[in-house]
Amino acid sequence: SSPLPNPTIMSQHQRPITNNNVVQHSPIFDYHRLDQQLLDTVAYDALVWSSLHGLLVGDKSVQSSGTVPGVGLVHAPLALLPTPFSETHWRRASDLAPIFNELVDRVSLDATFIHESLSRTKRADEFTSRLLDIHSKMLEINKKEEIRLGLHRSDYMLDEKTKSLLQIELNTISSSFAGLSNLVTELHRYILSHHGKRVGLDSERVPTNNAVYHFADALAKAWSEYNNPRAAIMFVVQAEERNMYDQHFISASRLLYLYNCAICDIKGYRGLFYLKKTIVVLNSVHTRVVIILNFITRIILQLYEKHWQKLIGKEKFYQMEHLLCMDGQAISVVYFRAGYTPVDYPSESEWRARLLMEQSSAIKCPSISYHLVGTKKIQQELAKPGVLERFLEDKDDIAKLRNCFAGLWSLDDPNIVQKAIETPELFVMKPQREGGGNNIYGDDVRETLLKLQKAGSQEDAAYILMQRIFPSLSEAILMRNGCWYKDYAISELGIFGTYLRNKDKVVMNNQSGYLMRTKISSSDEGGVAAGFAVLDSIYLT
Ligand code: ADP
Ligand code: MG
Ligand code: MG
Repeated sequence: SSPLPNPTIMSQHQRPITNNNVVQHSPIFDYHRLDQQLLDTVAYDALVWSSLHGLLVGDKSVQSSGTVPGVGLVHAPLALLPTPFSETHWRRASDLAPIFNELVDRVSLDATFIHESLSRTKRADEFTSRLLDIHSKMLEINKKEEIRLGLHRSDYMLDEKTKSLLQIELNTISSSFAGLSNLVTELHRYILSHHGKRVGLDSERVPTNNAVYHFADALAKAWSEYNNPRAAIMFVVQAEERNMYDQHFISASRLLYLYNCAICDIKGYRGLFYLKKTIVVLNSVHTRVVIILNFITRIILQLYEKHWQKLIGKEKFYQMEHLLCMDGQAISVVYFRAGYTPVDYPSESEWRARLLMEQSSAIKCPSISYHLVGTKKIQQELAKPGVLERFLEDKDDIAKLRNCFAGLWSLDDPNIVQKAIETPELFVMKPQREGGGNNIYGDDVRETLLKLQKAGSQEDAAYILMQRIFPSLSEAILMRNGCWYKDYAISELGIFGTYLRNKDKVVMNNQSGYLMRTKISSSDEGGVAAGFAVLDSIYLT
């Protein structure tokens, strides 16, 4: 992460008094002109607001802040004021969400495409290979996923030279910040409604953001489609997670709670412990997950199979037979906020747990096929000419998607590898990893490519090359650990998408709020959790 240049330390812990009567008219985004006293006041108000509303993460310097809620909390890294973003591009990005949702679903059904696209990668990348093994096992047993739930986030940057909105990547697993991005938007609207006149900005130009509502709604509706009032939604999380409040905002959503109650009331189960939101650590799942309620239930089910099938229907019988249980609690939806990185699988038991969950009748968010569709290699394959046509019919939709694809290449193209060696600053080299901090930039691109060429092995298949996108710089006021500082920054806009389908019925397919992340322009990487970027929202221009 980057050192903080000249931070203003709010050592006084006092809110400076500012003159609120100065009125600016047309919006001006040269935030660096704002004087120290005003920024101190805004920062103070932002810190109070964040503390009171839960815009928080675990504090790195407190050891148990990633495991014990309520211990060692610090405000999330923030941009003090929203970053200007063109309304046209924001709408364009939002319109793409349902199309990407549908694309993920279609591609996930094409096992041949997935395996062919990843066949070379499989040999070079152990992690992708393990995921593909699970996928193959599901094909062997002819596993049908009737109910499909996607909580995605597609990320974009606005290329300055071409003024085009280009996709950075599409996240299909563990898309984070639906909870906190919601709050940052509220914080910015609050700041602008109090200080907007002095800054020259109007809070109404910060679009409302209901990401957390949409995510909770999608989980609740998935639960409802599964149609087992006794079953719970299970969150699979990492053992240590400093971004835990973002996850708790979803699991504690009033909407999810009210929704449960409504369903339980209707079914007459009031007062019972049915739709429970369980948070577990991935490495302890396997020992506690039992696919069938217990041995006796299995015997009874099998002994009277025909009878049961007649009584409850074939489908329900299958669901019962493959019921996922956790400590005796039936699970209807597994929501992964872990499992996207090799670090989450320190032993074979985590892989077995992942397989068990995949084999069960629970709805997986994401299923193994949705997970694989989100890999960088698949992104690159989809960008090849003629490939989108394999999955989508609507020509307009195809054109819209293609418009946002940046240059993406496989390393088996010697011309592009040569070009990247000559001008590495125009490329980003990406392995099949998630979570930030894994990409290769600048001179390291050249060095890595030369090394791979020399070795002459299959290892190059672990990477893709991508055109480097250069967004325009904006003047930002960034805030970490209670200190603000001015710097030039670039931003990345993420659009959340929610998708739920049960057989032929598409229950939801929506654009579901946004996440703006801003980082100092000298930083290559972008993750907030990884320490590179701050949470932000947009000011429509
Ligand atoms: P991850 O799945 O780890 O988030 P990303 O593809 O999103 O991987 O890359 C991480 C970060 O690297 C992004 O948030 C962005 O800041 C930067 N980045 C990725 N691709 C590009 C690109 N083509 N041009 C410029 N920056 C990029
Ligand atoms: Mg990602
Ligand atoms: Mg990313």
